[in-house]
Amino acid sequence: MSRKSLSSLLLGLLVLFGALPAEGQWYRRAQPSEPPVGVQAEAAPEAQTPTAPPPPIVLDAHVDSLHRILDRGDDLSETLMDGQVDLNKLRIGGVNVVWFALWVDQDKYKGEAATKRALALYEALQKQVARHNDRLVFCRTSSDVRRAASEGKIAALAGIENGSAINNDLRLISSFHDMGVTRMVITWRGNLAWGAASQSENPKLGLTALGREVIREMNRVGMVVDLSHSSKQTALDALDVSTLPVIFSHSNASAICPHPRNIDDELLQRLKQNGGVVGVNFYDRFVRPARKNILDRRPPTLDNVLDHLDYMVKIAGVDHVGIGSDWDGGIVPVVGLENASHMPSFFEGMRRRGYSEGDIRKIAGENFLRVLEANEQGARKAIDLPPAARSQ
Ligand SMILES: [Zn+2]
Repeated sequence: MSRKSLSSLLLGLLVLFGALPAEGQWYRRAQPSEPPVGVQAEAAPEAQTPTAPPPPIVLDAHVDSLHRILDRGDDLSETLMDGQVDLNKLRIGGVNVVWFALWVDQDKYKGEAATKRALALYEALQKQVARHNDRLVFCRTSSDVRRAASEGKIAALAGIENGSAINNDLRLISSFHDMGVTRMVITWRGNLAWGAASQSENPKLGLTALGREVIREMNRVGMVVDLSHSSKQTALDALDVSTLPVIFSHSNASAICPHPRNIDDELLQRLKQNGGVVGVNFYDRFVRPARKNILDRRPPTLDNVLDHLDYMVKIAGVDHVGIGSDWDGGIVPVVGLENASHMPSFFEGMRRRGYSEGDIRKIAGENFLRVLEANEQGARKAIDLPPAARSQ
């Protein structure tokens, strides 16, 4: 076989087995074979007949819309064919708390540019809140979130996605937290100087001494440690160091879908001991079960997402699972959860599988809010302790 045909075969196999990740590339447009997102948003209310009102708090712990808002000039009031989250879809879907990601692509933004990119995304969110203050409220705390929800508004939380945004400077953690940034996905794709990612050349590495200081400083200020995208060793190291509950905001069970972005039983058990929460992800590549027949190309569905949910509840417990859709993160969502307007289908699916209304409320948002509150309280307790060693 020629070198050219060998490399195209390899490329084909990588695509076939889902090893070429697209998550995080928001600009990926829907392929012709994919469902037209906007059209389904309009069709959703007729398609769904919820048997119960939505839970009072529906918190999506990972939404990536800010890139298209900043780079393309989109607005959350617009219902776009290639947008999975907007104010209208959130209202239809009953989603009233959104943890927006300030995502930094470390290949594109290096050094100070990474910090500036996170700041620009933060500013884009603030502009949206100012423009739509009748419907959208920026929230810094769990009580802010509850107040916004009780007023019938959508609570907007901000979280960094990629510790490259702090540019190896621990002081930026408290600066971002002072601005109301309430969590940080500590790594993204590719290793940082202080922490390894699950998708990197050497995913066996963990946290360095500086990486451990990052976790301590996040605990000190009450910024939630988010371990989605971390290597397993980084996650284990962070769980060793953290005195407060952590999250995996948007990851599934690798026992069902063995993708490096998903987490195994050991991490789920450690998460339970830590008191943290994992958010089930709707990206088809992180949902698709390991195929017995490689020719089986049926797209994953809502039911496959519920299989991940059931599994993670079985291993970690019902108090330790939530929702982190990954919508607008360049993902192809599973069939049945194409955009935020479809969220009621998720809860209907849970009811069909026998979850109680109390358990649905926990998974819908109470679990993630509990972690946010625990980090706020932990920070208050730590207020008299000296700040972590400052390093550049
Ligand atoms: Zn992500």
